[in-house]
Amino acid sequence: MPELPEVETVVAQLRPHLVGRRILAADVLWPRTLAAPDRTSFIERLLGRQITGLSRRGKYLLFELDSDDALIVHLRMTGRLEIVERDSPLREGPHARAWFDLSGGECLVFTDARKFGRIWLARDLGEVLGALGPEPLDWEFDAARLAARIRRRRVAVKALLLDQAVVAGIGNIYADEALFLAGIHPLRPGLSLSDDEIERLHAAIRQVLREAISQQGTTLRDYRPPYGLEGAYQNQLRVYQQTDLPCPRCGTPIQRIRVTQRSTHFCPQCQPDFPRSAA
Ligand SMILES: [Zn+2]
Repeated sequence: MPELPEVETVVAQLRPHLVGRRILAADVLWPRTLAAPDRTSFIERLLGRQITGLSRRGKYLLFELDSDDALIVHLRMTGRLEIVERDSPLREGPHARAWFDLSGGECLVFTDARKFGRIWLARDLGEVLGALGPEPLDWEFDAARLAARIRRRRVAVKALLLDQAVVAGIGNIYADEALFLAGIHPLRPGLSLSDDEIERLHAAIRQVLREAISQQGTTLRDYRPPYGLEGAYQNQLRVYQQTDLPCPRCGTPIQRIRVTQRSTHFCPQCQPDFPRSAA
């Protein structure tokens, strides 16, 4: 599933092609792809609108329009946004779920093989994004804000990082990478973390996300950025999907466990399952 760096990459790649364009026609081909409103008012409210901006919040893409509405897209597992010619077979292809004909002659197509992706048109962003926690790369997001969200929780720190209400945009890849960099075992309860560990975790989250954005994200089976550009961060992963390979820091084989149903990768030497101060 695309996480913050991959969505950020998609936004950066699409923005120059979309901002300033008008939506001349639109359709939704798979009903469940459209979360809200109903198809008729979705199309009615979009027609003739100009795209005035494209941004990201957590793992959501936000299309600002010259109306009171915003078009919101969540790619989930396999969603892709592509700009094609209007006569492209992709527009009505087997995986096409929605399309938007644009002024200038091109078409924005939302394809989604596994159909988990969702689209909203919303006047109130809070209705869709209200539960999201802080943006990890915003300057206001400091270690104290992270501490306030995990300090009293008995839940495993890996599960807390995946909780979009704790911090927005982190998924399985960057949670594992950040915990490795911070030297924190993924099963440690939030309330067991010291101030020092939370500071290390905060710095590690920002480091891995910035590194990944600079590499245009991680390209795994389900995610490819538009236009065939491929992210390169998979070549720099330290623990994610590196099971049995040597830890880049100490050489111990990386282990894989399940945490809340998700594959979790860590170094048992560098990420001990008790606080270092108690060792
Ligand atoms: Zn290690």
